[in-house]
Amino acid sequence: TQSTRPQRILGAVQQNATRGDPRSVVRAIDQYCRNQEWAMNVGDEKGCILDSVVSEVNPATVLELGTYCGYSTVRIASLLPPHAKLITLEFNPEFAVIARQVIAWAGLEDKIQLVEGASGDLIPKMKEQFGVETFDLVFLDHWKDRYLPDTKLMEECGLLRKGSVLLADNVICPGTPDYLEFVRSSPRYESQYFKSHLEYTKVEDGLEKSVFLG
Ligand code: SAM
Ligand code: MG
Repeated sequence: TQSTRPQRILGAVQQNATRGDPRSVVRAIDQYCRNQEWAMNVGDEKGCILDSVVSEVNPATVLELGTYCGYSTVRIASLLPPHAKLITLEFNPEFAVIARQVIAWAGLEDKIQLVEGASGDLIPKMKEQFGVETFDLVFLDHWKDRYLPDTKLMEECGLLRKGSVLLADNVICPGTPDYLEFVRSSPRYESQYFKSHLEYTKVEDGLEKSVFLG
C-alpha cells in the first residue's frame, strides 16, 4: 500500500517531534520538507514573518483559509494568547484527517477548530453557526483564485472590523494578481508586502499584510 505525502509528513512528526511541543512539530515538518519532499506549507522562512504578525496582532479570533497538514495552523495557534480561538478551513478530507493528528500531536486541539468544507460555503456561516463576531486576523493560504472572492465575502458577511488584519501567502508565487491589485488600490485597506521566498526554495515569494480600515 502506497502512502501519500501528507501521511509521510505525519510520520515525520510522530518520529521526530515531542508530543505537546508545537515548535518541535513545526521543526520536524520543515526538516522533512526541506530535505526529503517539498510540500506546500508556508515553511520556516515565511513562517517567521507569519509569527511576527501573529505576535503583533495578538488576536483573540483567527481564521485560516487552507489547513493542508496543519503546519501553519500549529504555528499560529502556538502563539495565541489564552482563550483565543483559531478556526481553520479545509475542503480535502484526506488532508483534514492528517491535520487533526498533527494538531493533536502538538497538543493544540483546545485552541483550534478545524472545519471541513469549502471557504465559500463556510464563511457565510461563521456568525450563526460558529459564534464569530469578527476576525482579528485572517491567514489566506488556500487556492489562489479564491483570495479575492473570499475577501469580498468576508466583508459582505461583516466578519471584518476596522483594524482586522489579512495576511496572504504566495502573493508572488504562484501569485494572486487580482487580490494584490484589489488590496493595494482600495482605500479601505492599508497594504504592505513582506518579501521572502517560496517555501523550501530560493524563488521569490512573499506575504501581503493588509489592514482593513472599515
Ligand atoms: N496553510 C497551510 C500551511 O502553510 O501549512 C498550507 C495550505 S495549502 C497551501 C492550501 C490548502 O487549501 C489545501 O490543503 C487545499 O485543499 C485547501 N483549499 C483550497 N481551496 C479551498 C477552499 N476554497 N476551501 C477550503 N480549503 C481549500
Ligand atoms: Mg502558502
